[in-house]
Amino acid sequence: MTDRHILTAVAWPYANGPRHIGHVSGFGVPSDVFSRYHRMAGDKVLMVSGTDEHGTPITVAADAEGITPREIADRNNRIIVGDLQSLGLSYDLFTRTTTANHAAVSQEIFLGLLKNGYVFPQTTLGAISPSTGRTLPDRYIEGTCPICGYDGARGDQCDNCGNQLDPTDLINPVSKINGETPKFVESEHYFLDLPAFTKALGDWLATRKSWRPNVLNFSVNLLEDLKPRSYTRDIDWGVPVPLDGWRDRPDKRIYVWFDAVVGYLSASIEWARRSGDPEAWRQWWQTPDSDAYYFMGKDNIVFHSEIWPAQLLGYNGEGDKGGTPGSLGRLNLPTEVVSSEFLTMEGRKFSSSRQVVIYVRDFLARYDADALRYFIAVAGPENQDTDFTWAEFRRRNNDELVAGWGNLVNRSVSMAAKNVGAVPTPGELTDADRALLATTSGAFRPIGELLSRNRQKAAIGETMRVVGEANKYLSDQAPWKLKEDPARRDTVLHTALQAIKDCNALLTPFLPHSAQQVHELLGGTGVWSVAPEVHDVTDLDDGSPYPIITGPYEQGQAVWGSTPLAAPGTPLTPPKPIFTKLDESVVEEELRRLEEGGA
Ligand SMILES: [Zn+2]
Repeated sequence: MTDRHILTAVAWPYANGPRHIGHVSGFGVPSDVFSRYHRMAGDKVLMVSGTDEHGTPITVAADAEGITPREIADRNNRIIVGDLQSLGLSYDLFTRTTTANHAAVSQEIFLGLLKNGYVFPQTTLGAISPSTGRTLPDRYIEGTCPICGYDGARGDQCDNCGNQLDPTDLINPVSKINGETPKFVESEHYFLDLPAFTKALGDWLATRKSWRPNVLNFSVNLLEDLKPRSYTRDIDWGVPVPLDGWRDRPDKRIYVWFDAVVGYLSASIEWARRSGDPEAWRQWWQTPDSDAYYFMGKDNIVFHSEIWPAQLLGYNGEGDKGGTPGSLGRLNLPTEVVSSEFLTMEGRKFSSSRQVVIYVRDFLARYDADALRYFIAVAGPENQDTDFTWAEFRRRNNDELVAGWGNLVNRSVSMAAKNVGAVPTPGELTDADRALLATTSGAFRPIGELLSRNRQKAAIGETMRVVGEANKYLSDQAPWKLKEDPARRDTVLHTALQAIKDCNALLTPFLPHSAQQVHELLGGTGVWSVAPEVHDVTDLDDGSPYPIITGPYEQGQAVWGSTPLAAPGTPLTPPKPIFTKLDESVVEEELRRLEEGGA
């Protein structure tokens, strides 16, 4: 183990419905590949996230179904937890924003900002219904977005362009309840003084040279026009505002985005409490040499390169107004905001409402998790918007995963099992044998370097090139023609199996499920790559059980480097294929499903 602490902060999936493969290609799989690699390299990883459960869309969904926001959140939290576990995402803690711990930490950040003068009260215009005189929550006001012109924008945000709005920003606002034009009257709110962080954010971004250029440029551009942002909202579903006269008001809550980003911290604190050392989170948040990588889709960059860093700077007392850290102490800013681009589906934007979608659960009911993980790694939206097509998914699966990697494992283990029944005993190595082993064992350094910089496409591309070298070796040496020379045959097979063991380690961050299978096919015992577990816990504020994802990842044998094959003589059995070849009919069937608008 090194002493390097790495926080993997994964975007919080929103609990208004199940997540589709576009979501997990942005935040899910890349963050898991990164975490699994660093654990194999001996670093101390803390990977946290949870479901984001407050805010307007949840209340809108609840209203539509005639149930409470909490019931919507409970249902979708459980679905999302199941999906992320099935995909093998190795969270140290995946929790939710409706815990008492999260509320307390969110309130602590607010109070720290208030103490340092970065949050201030201001009277703004709030909407009321002219006919009834009652407050109209932001979500019940609709109008035209002043930024993109979309005519179904709500009083808190535009779902078309993703910008957060105030109800007074809307052009032609109308009440969704009765269609009347709302009347705006004075309403008190707290605001985050973003302009006070222009210099501090700029200084920080100036040191972030290694970010993807589009993310850095976008973030720097945001600084040109920072305005105070409303920290509280007219809504009844969220974290209460921790001030006398506000705490018990049913109509004022902390804005959902300003509590959701605090989740990275509150989840770390919750993880530490569950680990038995309540102070353990500090090693990832407060030591100067720890690193924090935040993973998300590009629509969330603003909250991770501007809002959350501003909240941290203000809490630390590091904006224009100075100040001192709050009671938790000084907190580290992100090392890198790792944002991916968008995935589209058969040329169209994913849309749950328009049924252009395949949910993670439905995908995994029909295909292996590693097949999806492989596609996302090799063809996902790392640097540019990318289209998912079923034809390409099938091609990648069949030509690369099945024919390239699966077949190499299958052929080699089958031959060894059939001819020797065990790991063969190697004789003296030839130049060709040594060259292959030099290639596979030498691949860890450059590929590890790519993975540490989140160049995952390049990393898997290079790994599959090494797999190709092993396939070529096997064809060239043709051990099946060496019946008359069993000693040489066994040397070739041993060399191939050792190369496969190396390739399997290189592929483990990407393909953790099949990596465990290959480990066992090669005569390995015990756990190679650890699968995440779901545990039901009961320490929510109201005591009802909810699921968390966690896992004993430190118990996995996988390390980033060449490790010796099981000893000669270790029994090997003929393998079943590790990957499933997909028929051409799969593509037709999936396209038909998509056209019919069903999953
Ligand atoms: Zn808009």
